[in-house]
Amino acid sequence: MRTILIGPPGAGKGTQAEMLTAKYGIPHISTGDMLRQAVKEATPMGLKAKTFMDSGALVPDDVMIGIVAERLARDDCANGFLLDGFPRTVAQAEALTDILSGLRISLNGVADIEVDDDILLRRLTGRRVCGECAATYHVANRPPAREGVCDKCGGELYQRPDDNAETAETRLKVYKEQTLPLIDYYSKQGLLRKIRGDTGLENVFREICGALE
Ligand code: AMP
Repeated sequence: MRTILIGPPGAGKGTQAEMLTAKYGIPHISTGDMLRQAVKEATPMGLKAKTFMDSGALVPDDVMIGIVAERLARDDCANGFLLDGFPRTVAQAEALTDILSGLRISLNGVADIEVDDDILLRRLTGRRVCGECAATYHVANRPPAREGVCDKCGGELYQRPDDNAETAETRLKVYKEQTLPLIDYYSKQGLLRKIRGDTGLENVFREICGALE
């Protein structure tokens, strides 16, 4: 299974990606998680990316393409992978097409998870993330058993700096301007599968599996 999850911030890509990668035994490649790890470790790339991320803007294409090209060439991607949060621009999608053809592999499909803006904003502003294992929760929809503590690893939960209302709105705007054109890009290649993302976790999961298999 070689696939991409597309969808606005808050569509549930991360949660669905966790479920899909567990089912298919493939690596979950989340460029957002990779960048947050680099910020945490204060690497030169992390320091550069942080300014873009905190304002809700995209990190420059050349940085992102380099990270993903290196990650896809690793052995654990030989039997498949799931990309979550990449590509996010047409330039990234075109670079991905080149990377994959260089590796002599192709995509099975691209799932586009669609959710209305008002729901997305509620999901983003209520989201909490584990600082240790990156598991996600929601203060109302999916609270942890103990407030502020991750059910899976006991790590401390925090609110992402880019999940405040103002930055969340900017991220939705950036999505519409820079990422929505990918729907057309992958439709033309016959790879796109549209999925409604507000029908419940298990239902969305079944629909994505059905669409990609
Ligand atoms: P995410 O966790 O996918 O919502 O990503 C968080 C932030 O990381 C985004 O708002 C961007 O600033 C940055 N980012 C993640 N993936 C990409 C990408 N493919 N291209 C550019 N910026 C990205």
